[in-house]
Amino acid sequence: MPLPVIAIVGRPNVGKSTLFNRLTGKRSALVSDLPGLTRDRREGEANVAGNILTLVDTAGLEEAAAGSIAARMRAQSEEAIKKADLALFVIDARDGIVPADAAFAKVVREAGTPVVLVANKCEGRSGQQGFYEAFQLGLGEPIAISAEHGEGIGELAGTLLSALGLKPVRTRKGDVEPE
Ligand code: GDP
Ligand code: MG
Repeated sequence: MPLPVIAIVGRPNVGKSTLFNRLTGKRSALVSDLPGLTRDRREGEANVAGNILTLVDTAGLEEAAAGSIAARMRAQSEEAIKKADLALFVIDARDGIVPADAAFAKVVREAGTPVVLVANKCEGRSGQQGFYEAFQLGLGEPIAISAEHGEGIGELAGTLLSALGLKPVRTRKGDVEPE
């Protein structure tokens, strides 16, 4: 059985690479304050309660002129979404929903790939309004997380497993533990 593939998608700077690192336990994905720094797709493995999942960190969907670097990044993200078993769509709850999020929610819906929506940067109360705005995307109920502080990761892990039709096998130290 091939490993299930999860593509982490969303506009630049929402915290995709931070979430990739959190779930894979690696520091390999570039994290930056500069939007769109992750130019190439990166793959890593996450162990969610004994289930090995392949995660793909993408550059970030961006509205872009044809032929530009941003356009290539966008094409790469669209390809990753189509190839994936599941898209993990990330928004920045502190920024709230911006037009780019809505535009790319449409891309994800049209690809027909199952989606799990996460509202990142929800530590403290700063993300509360953005969390509620995320319902507008039409991608289902968002999961409030803080990739940086490790909050909400258990709920996310449980949702990922059920969305993929998987069950916890076992948990060991270092695994992502579902709630
Ligand atoms: P990407 O462009 O979507 O891959 O975003 P990055 O993972 O590179 O993160 C962009 C910025 O958001 C960095 O400065 C991160 O430290 C920050 N960031 C990521 N996750 C969180 C979070 O949960 N809370 C807060 N406050 N900042 C975060
Ligand atoms: Mg990145």
